[in-house]
Amino acid sequence: MSGILVLCDHAGGAFKPTANELLTLAGTLGGPVFAAVLGDAPAATLGGLGASKVFQAAGSFGDYAGAATVDALEAILAASGASVLLAPGTYVAHDALPRLAARLGAGMATDCSSVAMVDGKLVGTRDWFAGRAQGQVTVNTTPAIASVAPNSGPKSESTGAEAEVVSVSWEAKTPGLEVLETLAPSTDGVDLNTADVVIAGGRSLKSKENFDGVIRGLASTLRAGVGASRAATDAGIADHSEQVGQTGVTVAPSLYIAAGISGAIQHLAGMRTSKVIVAINTDSGAPIFEHATYGIVGDLFEVCPAIAEAVQALD
Ligand SMILES: Cc1cc2nc3c(=O)[nH]c(=O)nc-3n(C[C@H](O)[C@H](O)[C@H](O)COP(=O)(O)OP(=O)(O)OC[C@H]3O[C@@H](n4cnc5c(N)ncnc54)[C@H](O)[C@@H]3O)c2cc1C
Repeated sequence: MSGILVLCDHAGGAFKPTANELLTLAGTLGGPVFAAVLGDAPAATLGGLGASKVFQAAGSFGDYAGAATVDALEAILAASGASVLLAPGTYVAHDALPRLAARLGAGMATDCSSVAMVDGKLVGTRDWFAGRAQGQVTVNTTPAIASVAPNSGPKSESTGAEAEVVSVSWEAKTPGLEVLETLAPSTDGVDLNTADVVIAGGRSLKSKENFDGVIRGLASTLRAGVGASRAATDAGIADHSEQVGQTGVTVAPSLYIAAGISGAIQHLAGMRTSKVIVAINTDSGAPIFEHATYGIVGDLFEVCPAIAEAVQALD
């Protein structure tokens, strides 16, 4: 077995940024790079991002189909003969991959910020204890499986090359599971998980109306994803799917704006690896300022609209 297989997520006929990031990362690990595509997507284009071959499983995977993903990925992994499977650190990483790993008796490193091959073994680097420490996980099995957090690495420009596409047949092996209903988050707009810019608000927004007006208003101007502290989601000011932190999502955008968020360790765990952090807080002693690239001591109800106005003036 050899080769790195990358699960390439897609939606609406386009591959998500994680496909590019993971194919770019796979290209640094040595050995042939393969792509796995579940469902209908322009698979051949992944050749431009470094995939020498694309293994595509036909079927209806919808937004996410856990059981089908496990069964189809197992078939693709076998067909490709890859020794490593990389997947984005989304719900696939928390649901389908552990089940696939258990089925194959394979080791897995979850939510890595980077991976490397050391002496022929997959080594993943990841946070421990809500980001207080970093550690390395060496996966001793073949195949080895790892999930990598979105926005953890660089992307490549497509060369425009087309890859050979191999159609893989698979069978549903997981009985007794039927999707009865899919509940979409009550929000729309830019996907928080992969957004390049995130604007997040905290308890200090005080009401859903304020959050919608100030945070979503600025997000719309910046074409940003919307995040929130747990205090804000617990208070019903923001949607639970928008919670950033230890018990929410982990993001690493180019720009993270934290408006009225104190900077508790549990919140930092979900955003501290953002490239640039801007904190807006009335309290100059708020812990968030210790982690911010730029700090604005001020009232978010004045600062956020001022930023929106300034950005609109640039258009
Ligand atoms: C097991 C566990 C898991 C947790 N998981 C998470 C998690 O995943 N994510 C998370 O976020 N939290 C998490 N928490 C909660 C976390 O400890 C904090 O309570 C929470 O992050 C605080 O949210 P906040 O910053 O919005 O509120 P606060 O801590 O109350 O901070 C509000 C901030 O707003 C500032 N402010 C007030 N008014 C204004 C204004 N007009 N303009 C500007 N600034 C203003 C204040 O100075 C203050 O700094 C977890 C806690 C536990 C125990």
